[in-house]
Amino acid sequence: MGHTIFSKIIKREIPADIVYESELLLAFKDIKPKAPVHILIIPKAEIPKVTDIRGFEHAGLLGEMFDAANKIAKDFGIAKDGFRLVFNCGNNGGQEVNHLHMHLLGGRQMTWPPG
Ligand code: AMP
Repeated sequence: MGHTIFSKIIKREIPADIVYESELLLAFKDIKPKAPVHILIIPKAEIPKVTDIRGFEHAGLLGEMFDAANKIAKDFGIAKDGFRLVFNCGNNGGQEVNHLHMHLLGGRQMTWPPG
């Protein structure tokens, strides 16, 4: 536990373009953006992935992640036109970093289905 690149960003051991922070969360720009706005919203707690979420235990944290997404979307001017929120989970989900993160993508028309 605790050895992902995101843990290092939380501890300020490596730099990131941080756009939002609270007691429980950190949000920063994705280093390889897939859209004009691409922000990662992560809990400071080390939850590796979606399958580690426990609804009752993490309800408040998850609610805060969605509140943060809405606030950041507004701040970046993409709330009105719409945006996409994504959690990749495990190999087939395309998850590369084993620290729970919500992708906030916007600023262009998204396509469906995703690749
Ligand atoms: P996922 O494939 O869902 O695990 O997404 C991980 C995301 O983290 C990818 O979109 C990467 O571009 C992004 N990423 C990896 N390292 C960094 C970093 N140091 N700073 C910001 N974003 C990163």
